[in-house]
Amino acid sequence: MTDTLTLRAAYVLPHRDKVIDGGWIEIGGPRIVEVGNGLPRADRGRVIDLGNAAVIPGLVNAHTHLELSDLQGKIPPPKSFTQWLGHILAFRRREAGKPLDRAVEKGVSLSLESGTTTVADISSTGDSLRILPNLPIRKRVFKEVICLEPDKVSGVMEGTIRELSSLKNAVGAYCDVSLLSAGLSPHAPYTACPKLYLGCALFAQGSDLLLCTHICETLEEVEFLREGTGSFAIMLKALNMLEGWRPPGMYPLEYLKSTGALKGPWLLVHCNYLSGKEVKIIEETTSSVVYCPRSHRYFGHSEHPFQDLLKRGINVALGTDSLASNQSLSILDEARFLHENYPGLDPVEIFSMATEGGAKALRLEEKIGRLIPGMEADLAVIELPSGEGTVYERMLAPEARVILTMVAGRVCYDRYSLM
Ligand SMILES: [Zn+2]
Repeated sequence: MTDTLTLRAAYVLPHRDKVIDGGWIEIGGPRIVEVGNGLPRADRGRVIDLGNAAVIPGLVNAHTHLELSDLQGKIPPPKSFTQWLGHILAFRRREAGKPLDRAVEKGVSLSLESGTTTVADISSTGDSLRILPNLPIRKRVFKEVICLEPDKVSGVMEGTIRELSSLKNAVGAYCDVSLLSAGLSPHAPYTACPKLYLGCALFAQGSDLLLCTHICETLEEVEFLREGTGSFAIMLKALNMLEGWRPPGMYPLEYLKSTGALKGPWLLVHCNYLSGKEVKIIEETTSSVVYCPRSHRYFGHSEHPFQDLLKRGINVALGTDSLASNQSLSILDEARFLHENYPGLDPVEIFSMATEGGAKALRLEEKIGRLIPGMEADLAVIELPSGEGTVYERMLAPEARVILTMVAGRVCYDRYSLM
């Protein structure tokens, strides 16, 4: 057996509700060999003592757009969601064709520095789909598709399938376990017709592809779906996208269900405005909801129903969304935001959404999200401030900082050059 690496720390948090005081984790190649407490075995390889720190499962960012990482601070504060979308489209038009490799690379570095080991990334332009497989972070990368005209759906699907098939060569290319999985993302009910939703679902059936859509994000979206009016109707008409479109007269999730596409698991991003009927629709599926707390606040939405969804047993994961509507790509910052704004919310629940919840949402729960022997060694180390409080509360303190990030046993961020 080749030498292993053992990380020792004041706390190891292998999974929900378990805290090992004075714990250690032994890593061999890309996988976790053993987790324990007390003195680690010194005869198996190097042992590094991390001191007053917590070793936790790597954080999972269940929704982001790394291609927009160059837009931090460049979008003026919008009056509405459609105005914000208009700003993004105008920005991209001005820079038409410019590859976004640097933006994606920046997004990956920022993620790793903040303890995120897995991202669910939406690729609109195809740039992230092209370069993300070569970057040392675990990723489920979704190709975004848009089409409101049924006659054009087959053409759109053909192009998308070609782009996704280019990923096959990249699988396993980075290390001896694959850090890459893929998905398909019909953008949103206001940009995807029923034929597109169903086409994506049929293509994904029986494969490892996961489906994702932005849904129930704004009241304008609800109005557009139910009445065919409002700011989306104005914007999409100006973009000549409404040829042949008829409003279905339903709430967004009723619409998605009516397309026949909701049979398998979906990553339902946002779900900011859910009717009672729509909550029941989610309950009947194996889908997960992604809540993006600070992006939600940026747009000034009303209270998010995530606590009710959790009570009903619906899996909720956390996302940062992009730097065009957020200050950072840090899931730890999202966790701190929730801790500050929901004092009654158990910090264990917050970390569970940020780790196990994210892994489950991305259908990667057999590989990551917990620190269990045999699972892949995706972890983050958080240096703790001294003082009172549980380890969870101390990890959420503003002075706590990520000092080490490891993906499949490989060190991807090392603040103090410990390795
Ligand atoms: Zn998004």
